[in-house]
Amino acid sequence: MSEQVQDPWLLTPGPLTTTMETKEAMLHDWGSRDASFIEMNARVRDRLVKIADGEGTHVCVPLQGSGTFAVEAALGTLIPPDGKALILINGAYGKRMATILDYAGRTYATNETPEDTPVDLDALTVSLENDAAITHVLVVHCETTSGILNPIAEVAEITKRYGRSLIIDAMSSFGAVSVSAREIFYDAILASSNKCLEGIPGMGFAIIRQCVLEGCKGNAHALTLDLYNQWVTMEANKQWRFTPPTHVIAAFDCAISQYLAEGGVAARNKRYANNCRIIIDGLRALGFETVLPDELQAPIIVTFKMPADPTFDFDAFYDQLKEAGYVIYPGKLTVAPSFRIGGIGNLSAAEMNGALDAIKDILKKMGVTTGVPAAA
Ligand SMILES: *Cc1c(COP(=O)(O)O)cnc(C)c1O
Repeated sequence: MSEQVQDPWLLTPGPLTTTMETKEAMLHDWGSRDASFIEMNARVRDRLVKIADGEGTHVCVPLQGSGTFAVEAALGTLIPPDGKALILINGAYGKRMATILDYAGRTYATNETPEDTPVDLDALTVSLENDAAITHVLVVHCETTSGILNPIAEVAEITKRYGRSLIIDAMSSFGAVSVSAREIFYDAILASSNKCLEGIPGMGFAIIRQCVLEGCKGNAHALTLDLYNQWVTMEANKQWRFTPPTHVIAAFDCAISQYLAEGGVAARNKRYANNCRIIIDGLRALGFETVLPDELQAPIIVTFKMPADPTFDFDAFYDQLKEAGYVIYPGKLTVAPSFRIGGIGNLSAAEMNGALDAIKDILKKMGVTTGVPAAA
């Protein structure tokens, strides 16, 4: 191979920086019907169920594509054509679930709060109390739009009390913030290969309560997105229905082994929380403000308000930071002009401190004396 050059570190919500070991796991070819691939696929599915604490209750159904493909498949498979969803929205990913249901032709209601505000538990209770037609509640665990952590245990408790089915988009939190199926009652949780488990992009998965999935035959609105059919087929012959993303699964298998060796959810949560802490404390010392107070902040990605200093130019800042070896993310918020810095992926204190030093340098060169944002 040619000389190794360090790629820029990705301080983004995914795809993320992966380890060399994970990248090297892809340097082979696998036949999709070959025993070694079938074994690897079964191991990935089993370990994902274990990570979710879903052994004996839940099954793992993987699907080709990015995370949104798995969300679209899960909603279409689990919500029957005559069902009705209640979507709790406080960001772009909640809104995307509404768009998915528009395409699928499913009925839904929404309870929306601003992007810097957790989903409203009282409004959830009122909706479930007053609307008997609601069959499913949909919620995003960590809304990656702002980085806010929604009160998932309380949402699950209320949804269960009213006898409805809960579907959680835990794409950006799964593996880094515990959502144990033994403690939080949900019918499905959705995630993908390229977020906190640090694989490469290309596969989403749903961890679904088996007794619920067994009743979902015929619900799906598209053949490729039918998770019931995907599951039944994979259980019967251990194979994917259509060409599997073999290299993605090999990298994911390797990434999951590293995840377990690191110490699972507790260790990953600690490393990511420390990463975010370094960036938050460092930028606050320069005058920057976070959109969220610390108690609402998930240890995943942090949103900062744009500085008011007229010499600050975000595009130039972004380009120079990339030049220095760190890629960040523009904001996606409507509540305030902002940018985001992620703490997930194969990153530790050294990379976060390196990014902070680079940021200080660039601001100095730009002539920005403070990161203080415009008054609200
Ligand atoms: C990343 C993410 C998704 C999936 O997005 P893709 O671009 O399809 O990978 C869904 N929900 C949340 C909360 C996410 O962070």
